[in-house]
Amino acid sequence: PPKIGVLALQGAFREHRRLLESLGTTVQEVRLPADLTGLDGLILPGGESTTMARLLTEYALWEPIRAFQASGGALWGTCAGAILLAREVRGAPPQFGGRQESLGLLDAAVVRNAFGRQINSFAAPLSVQGLDGSFPTVFIRAPAFGEIGNDVEVLAQWQEQAVMLRQGNILATAFHPELTQDARIHQLFLDMTSDSKAVVM
Ligand code: GLN
Repeated sequence: PPKIGVLALQGAFREHRRLLESLGTTVQEVRLPADLTGLDGLILPGGESTTMARLLTEYALWEPIRAFQASGGALWGTCAGAILLAREVRGAPPQFGGRQESLGLLDAAVVRNAFGRQINSFAAPLSVQGLDGSFPTVFIRAPAFGEIGNDVEVLAQWQEQAVMLRQGNILATAFHPELTQDARIHQLFLDMTSDSKAVVM
């Protein structure tokens, strides 16, 4: 079975851990570059993306995560984690000059807090490509994706905005599957880790 890391600097990493363990997966909390050794996939959780970006710099994790993906490791970002994956981040606060560092591995721009500040959170059943029936999505000050590259598949939309993307061994969800009891997207990610290893061999 695949071994999955969860970036554990800030945010909802324990919830991912719980769902992964319910699927019988070995989970490694990742705080240091050395924690990436031997992993098949890494989840970047939800939380607050400017804080997480600052901690990625402090813990010198930007380049090790890029190298991990380049060597065949699968990545999945949920919400703030998806913001970290994107080529470009829109809507960063003015005190950051409106700019925000990101991994730049997912060929899409991401708009922070795309569904407004007044309604910070909502839940909606959504149809997700590849899953039967609907998936119980939870959005918490969620981003949306735009300027999506040709190699990127849109797996789910909410009100005509793309909220779930896949590009090769990279998965991004604007919503939080780890806050539900539905482990199907975690299972999809586990399946992606075996796909990406097959590509490397
Ligand atoms: N709004 C947060 C951000 O831009 C993300 C929220 C979340 O991860 N639930 O970083």
